[in-house]
Amino acid sequence: MLRWLKGRGARTAEVADMQSRIDPDRWSALLAAYPFLAALDAAEREALRGRTAWLLASKTMNGAQGLELTDAMRLAIAAQAALPILHLDPTLYEGWNEIIVYPGGFAIPRSQVDDDGVTHEYVEEAAGEAWEGGPIVLSWSDASQHTDAFNVVIHEFAHKLDLHGGDADGMPSLHAHRELSPRLWRRVLEASYDSFVQMLERTESSIPSDVDPEGPDADVYYAALPLDPYAATDEAEFFAVSSEHFFTDPEPLAAALPQWFALLEQYYRQEPLRRLAADDADAPDKPVALDGADAARQAPQALPDGAAPAALPPA
Ligand SMILES: [Zn+2]
Repeated sequence: MLRWLKGRGARTAEVADMQSRIDPDRWSALLAAYPFLAALDAAEREALRGRTAWLLASKTMNGAQGLELTDAMRLAIAAQAALPILHLDPTLYEGWNEIIVYPGGFAIPRSQVDDDGVTHEYVEEAAGEAWEGGPIVLSWSDASQHTDAFNVVIHEFAHKLDLHGGDADGMPSLHAHRELSPRLWRRVLEASYDSFVQMLERTESSIPSDVDPEGPDADVYYAALPLDPYAATDEAEFFAVSSEHFFTDPEPLAAALPQWFALLEQYYRQEPLRRLAADDADAPDKPVALDGADAARQAPQALPDGAAPAALPPA
């Protein structure tokens, strides 16, 4: 019980027991459903199963607003959450216990004081949220998306990695990465973030005046960006959104911000670019994944993960 109160992970025997209870057929079907998981090789799949079992044994997952979580839903969330820590110590996800899952987007009451000292109360629609020392909150309709560069599960767990290093500032703990100096990380993070903000500004100024910059007709302009515009919110969101793209749609990010991408490769100890390219070569007819939700995510107004001007700590 004390262990749970401290947000520690489950014991080795409990994790092994959980792993033995993951149904092999359900596991294979799950990996096949998510392109970025389907691309994992045999050794990576086995490692992912271990990390997934760690998550299932260590975290409590509860449905909200009447959502009944099935084993398949729990497995889908845990497997996506396991990918960032495939080659990292799972204790980076310690210090909190609960994953709360809403059926769809959820409303977060916000209050913000403006420069004139006036408090504005409003409600923000969110697909996910990560509390410092507290739960991760997810929308199932977003967490179950298979094919987008948008991945709310990876996004929120990246926030947890960031928070494990202290403030939510795009700088995860580098204790286990002797080869990565915090100073280098900070320098590349800031330069890459600034560069992305400029790309976004150029994109915004290229939108003709007769096109609503927040409407669906503007999507085609934002689609040329290597990251979702939400990444320009601040360094914490830049790291979280970069992590989503790193795992699910790495090519544009690698091409546009190669130094930042290389740093993410070193941090996560994974090469999704090579992994997904090899997978594409295996299946040349595979359709390019773009659906409605992806397009929606490219418009800046549709990007709340419950982050921005929050009274709560970020995410
Ligand atoms: Zn976020």
